[in-house]
Amino acid sequence: MAPTRAKLADGRDLLFFALPGHRPAPVADRRPLPGRDPDQSQLRYDRTTGQWVIVAARRQDRTYKPPPDQCPLCPGPTGLTSEVPAPDYDVVVFENRFPSLSGAGRAAPVPGDGFVSAPGHGRCEVVCFSSAHTGSFAELEPAHARLVVEAWRHRTADLTAAAGIEQVFCFENRGEEIGVTLTHPHGQIYGYPYLTPRTATMLAQAREHRLRHGGNLFADLLAREVADGSRVVARTDLFTAFVPFAARWPVEVHIYPNRFVRNVVELSADELDGFARIYLDVLKRFDRMYAAPLPYISALHQYADSEAQADGYFHVELMSIRRSATKLKYLAASESAMDAFIGDVTPEDVARRLRELR
Ligand SMILES: [Zn+2]
Repeated sequence: MAPTRAKLADGRDLLFFALPGHRPAPVADRRPLPGRDPDQSQLRYDRTTGQWVIVAARRQDRTYKPPPDQCPLCPGPTGLTSEVPAPDYDVVVFENRFPSLSGAGRAAPVPGDGFVSAPGHGRCEVVCFSSAHTGSFAELEPAHARLVVEAWRHRTADLTAAAGIEQVFCFENRGEEIGVTLTHPHGQIYGYPYLTPRTATMLAQAREHRLRHGGNLFADLLAREVADGSRVVARTDLFTAFVPFAARWPVEVHIYPNRFVRNVVELSADELDGFARIYLDVLKRFDRMYAAPLPYISALHQYADSEAQADGYFHVELMSIRRSATKLKYLAASESAMDAFIGDVTPEDVARRLRELR
């Protein structure tokens, strides 16, 4: 089912994904938006770590915690108030007005000696999960959650095929504790022009595992978690959700399809349904942990169908910094400076608690 396409006043793409029987009715975006700067961000190469850093100073001007009547993600039937000029919508995706990366279609940046920088090419998109200003992903009806999955799938296929994009990352930051500046339920999609450091590390681990043992690292770990069982939170015939053996966050759950695929594009129709169901199940458990909804980060780890990413196994990593009803875990010296995580709870205890929160 192809989305309905429209353009915003400054030329950005806007895509409407609709539930069966709904027909999107976009109106003209009549806002006097400034033109886009093709070089609004920069990549700088950190030679001490071999990692790229994105410098996007323009983002300092972005919309910060607007009052509910000025929410740019609520539908704007007049075409004057919103990023979504339409009387209503189910799920929409549009290019971020304040992107960290933009202007896809060029070659990947090349590391080198000296001070190496490159244009911050790539893509940043916003995914509005619903036209309702309040609520959350966990509160979506299953068919609506499935539509968000469909949007992720469409964007993953589209951006993976775009020149100059190495990695497509669909994610959600939920909760002010995580630094969310717009409360309207939404997620984002980044198309990076390079492989991110964590993904590169995981692929290197998986490659070494394959060379030494022959199998797929992620598949072997999934099988071990299932056999052990003590950290499994939920399991269906198609998906497994578990707290990983070496969890880094006070609440951390990984969701794997039981069958090896590299990304959501490779999931079958049944698996897409099953993915929406188990994802909702885990998020609902999160929100039952404490009196207030759990702040969380949701990260879809997807891999391209390429030689370099052949060992990647699609999965979702969900994590929260809430470590008790009243306390948050801050990334302090050991985590921030040394990337050495210290857990305050055992993964087995967290898994038991989440299992019981059905
Ligand atoms: Zn809103």
